[in-house]
Amino acid sequence: MGQTDEVRTQRDDIPIRDEDVERTFKYEVAHQVGGEGLLRCLKCGACSGGCPVGAVTDYRPRKVLGNVLLGLKDLVLSSDDIWMCAACFTCEERCVQEVNFTDIVTILRNMAVKQGHAARGYLEMARTVVAYGRVVPKTFAVDKMRANLELPPLQDPAMEELTKIIQASGFDKILALYKGGDKTQ
Ligand code: SF4
Ligand code: SF4
Repeated sequence: MGQTDEVRTQRDDIPIRDEDVERTFKYEVAHQVGGEGLLRCLKCGACSGGCPVGAVTDYRPRKVLGNVLLGLKDLVLSSDDIWMCAACFTCEERCVQEVNFTDIVTILRNMAVKQGHAARGYLEMARTVVAYGRVVPKTFAVDKMRANLELPPLQDPAMEELTKIIQASGFDKILALYKGGDKTQ
């Protein structure tokens, strides 16, 4: 999600202007690994019909795909919609065209992050991984709970190796985009 608690899903009642359309956007997505199926999408809506997130919110995977196919790049990448997918794969199981929506949403998220539109929750998780080597920092409470469950203690993360991976992948440079505050504010 963005920096407010309000969920900004893509609206249907905004007129599409020619200057908002980037006609090569769908190819940009489809040419990435996992995105190939995008151009097969029939916009039938079977994905939206089975989506558990859509059952309780205005989020619709078909709408995301439709806007990608229309070329509404800025709208798609700046919207909270692409961060709402729970990666349950129900849509992929239902899709007659074998569109890998979860891969497509990952591609869209990666593009959004590079444009400064990372959702706050994901950004916080990324910073925690960089700082502690874990999505959830190790705490006394976690150690105690594990001991009560007779689980072995957590090992310290391999921070040296992790730091090398972060630098080699350019992840640190992407996070630096957000220094001094999140751009989605
Ligand atoms: S079910 Fe498949 S073909 Fe139908 S709208 Fe969803 S992604 Fe497109
Ligand atoms: S993978 Fe995402 S879009 Fe597909 S059904 Fe699950 S929550 Fe909905």
